[in-house]
Amino acid sequence: MKQKRISAALMSLVMALSLVGASGCSGTTSSSSPQLTSEPASSVSTPIVSSAPKESSNAKKSDAATVSNEPAISDSAPAPSSGALLKVNYLDVGQGDSEFIELPNGQTMLIDAGNPENGSGIVSYITSRGHNKIDYLIATHPHADHIGGMATVVDSLDIGTIYMPRTSDGDTPTTSVYKKLLTSIQSKGLKINTAKAGVSIVNTGSLSATMIAPNSTGYGDLNQYSAVIMLTYGKNKFLFMGDAGNTSESEIAADVSADVLKVGHHGSKTATSQKFLNKVHPKQAVIEVGSGNKYGHPTQQALNRLKSIGATVYRTDLCSTIVFTSDSNTITVNKSASSVKEQAPPSSKASTGKATLKSNATITPKSTAPAANNAQGITVYITNTGKKYHSAGCRYLSKSCIPISLSEAKAEGYIPCSRCNPPE
Ligand SMILES: [Zn+2]
Ligand SMILES: [Zn+2]
Repeated sequence: MKQKRISAALMSLVMALSLVGASGCSGTTSSSSPQLTSEPASSVSTPIVSSAPKESSNAKKSDAATVSNEPAISDSAPAPSSGALLKVNYLDVGQGDSEFIELPNGQTMLIDAGNPENGSGIVSYITSRGHNKIDYLIATHPHADHIGGMATVVDSLDIGTIYMPRTSDGDTPTTSVYKKLLTSIQSKGLKINTAKAGVSIVNTGSLSATMIAPNSTGYGDLNQYSAVIMLTYGKNKFLFMGDAGNTSESEIAADVSADVLKVGHHGSKTATSQKFLNKVHPKQAVIEVGSGNKYGHPTQQALNRLKSIGATVYRTDLCSTIVFTSDSNTITVNKSASSVKEQAPPSSKASTGKATLKSNATITPKSTAPAANNAQGITVYITNTGKKYHSAGCRYLSKSCIPISLSEAKAEGYIPCSRCNPPE
C-alpha cells in the first residue's frame, strides 16, 4: 500500500478506529486492537494538526499539515448572562452517542455524532433549534458509532474548534468512516486539537467545560481513549464519558462528582465501575443505546450499579431524545419516558416532543401539543400506532413514546391504558 509520509504524530492522530469494524464499540472492553500495524490510513490526506504541547511524540512535522502548538482558543468565549439556560440534548441515534449542547453563553458544543446514517438528522436537529455553528466539536474517540455522522456535520455547519484524542500508532484506525471525517476536516481548512486530560474547552464566568480523560495512551482499546468531559454551569455538573471504561475511570484524578452522568460505553459491564460511580454519585444518568443492539447494552450489571447508587436512569432506546435544562442551579428533564418509572421526575413542560435521529428523516419534534394547551399540565404518552395513552414507564411504550397533554390525548380519542392506569 502506498503510504504518504505522514508523521508519527499525524498517524496517531489519524487515529484510532482499531479496526473494530464499522459498528465499533464491542460489548466488552479489551477489544485489543487486532492486527493493528503502525501503518497510517493509506490515502488519508493530512489535516492540519495542532499538536498538544509537551506530548512526547516523536512527531515530526508532516508535510501538508500545519502543526500548531497554540492551545485552542477558549478565552474569547462570552460569559453567560444571568438567567441564561444550558440545554443538553442527548440525541437518539440508535446504538451510538451524540450530545448536542446549547451553552448558556450562546455557543454550542457537539460531543460525538452517532453513526453515518445519523449525520443529516443531527444537522437538521441542530438547525431546527436555530443554530448553524458548532463552536466546539468533540469526537470522543474514533469509533463509527461516535464519529459516523461527523463528516456530514463538518460539511454542513460552521465549525469552531475540533478535538479528538491522539491515539498510539498501533491504535490508529484505518476505517473509511474515519478517513472521510479527516477529509471533511481538511477540506474546510480546520485543524484538530488533541483531546486529553487537562484541556480547557471553555471557561468563562460560571460556565466551564474541561477534559479529564484520556490520561494516557497506548491503550490498545479505542474506547479508553475517549475524551471525558466535565461541563459545569454554576452549581450544576454534567459528566460525559464517551465509551471510557474501567481502565480510563481508574486513571482519572480530577473531581468527577456530577449531577448528570452520560454513562460510559452504552452501559457496558466493563464501564461504570462501582468505585467510579461512588465518586460521581449522579442523581441522573443517561444511557445512549439502541434497542435490541447486538452487544447486550445496557447490561444488567451497569443498570444494577446505577440503581444501587440511586440514580434515575434515562435511556434513549426507551425515551428517544432526552433534553436536560439547567439554569445554573436547578436541572429539569424533558423526556418521553423513563426506564425507572418510580424514580422518574414528572415530565415537565411537554413542549419538546420526541425526536428521533434514527434515520435521515428530519427530526422536528413530533409532538405538536404545547403544554399550554393543557390547563393541568398533565403529560401522558402515546405510541405511533396504538389507540391508548399511557403513564411514563408503561411497558407498552418500549417501541415509541410520544408525550402529549392529557387533554389533547382525550380530544384525539385516545383511551387510558388498562395496565398502567394513567390519569383520566
Ligand atoms: Zn460507542
Ligand atoms: Zn467505542
